[in-house]
Amino acid sequence: MKPKIGIFSLTSCEGCSLAILELENELLDILGAVEIVNFREGMTERSWDIDIGFVDGAVSTPEDEKEARLFREHCKVLVAIGACACLGGLNTLKNYQNEADYRSYVYGNRAGWFPTIPARPLSAVVKVDFELPGCPMIKEEFLEFVKLTLAGRTFRLPEYAVCVECKRKGNLCLYEKGVICLGPVTRAGCDAICPSFGSKCEGCRGIVTEEAVRAAGVNLREQYNVSLDDVMADLRLFGAYQEAKLP
Ligand code: SF4
Ligand code: SF4
Ligand code: SF4
Repeated sequence: MKPKIGIFSLTSCEGCSLAILELENELLDILGAVEIVNFREGMTERSWDIDIGFVDGAVSTPEDEKEARLFREHCKVLVAIGACACLGGLNTLKNYQNEADYRSYVYGNRAGWFPTIPARPLSAVVKVDFELPGCPMIKEEFLEFVKLTLAGRTFRLPEYAVCVECKRKGNLCLYEKGVICLGPVTRAGCDAICPSFGSKCEGCRGIVTEEAVRAAGVNLREQYNVSLDDVMADLRLFGAYQEAKLP
């Protein structure tokens, strides 16, 4: 029998779920090996007997909390996809704002209709078995995860920083141009796409290790006279939740 897949969304733009639909040719190969049984973006049927559940979005409302528990209960393996589900992502910016302000900014005079809670990653509410970070998640990692899991093997994320991929591509480091880039502290796996196109890394794949943060603090101060505080301020865009736990 084919493994049954569910794809779910919490508070997010649902871009990571859409990235699965965008796989097109590869999706046809996957569909030969698995059965998608629950995917609001792609089908109307619903089944709750699920082997692997993929979830994008942060837990940002009481309803999200209930749904996160429902997904955990019905999925043998639960996988967070994208920065929102893995880190809390952009949603966690609200945790640093006054609640009354952001509620009225987003919902105007209907703010009372929509309950809200501080945004958190999926793993803050239920046990998560794997995480595929990025905004959006990297499609190739999703395919690799599915293929390895179906083969009974373990998928592993890169354990080094974006700078490694950036250097491999021969890019001039953006710090040489006076730009703060989060590459030294961010998990690789995106092929350093942003610095390769001249944009700074904004940390959408999360902090690679606390050791990398400590090393970056020393190196950036000594080499470029940049304070780690400035780097960590930039980290808040995607990593506000992670930032709270760092040394
Ligand atoms: S990680 Fe990015 S693309 Fe994915 S759901 Fe969140 S905001 Fe959208
Ligand atoms: S541009 Fe950014 S990712 Fe590339 S080497 Fe410099 S700090 Fe690292
Ligand atoms: S370079 Fe940084 S911000 Fe850009 S995709 Fe990679 S991890 Fe995300």
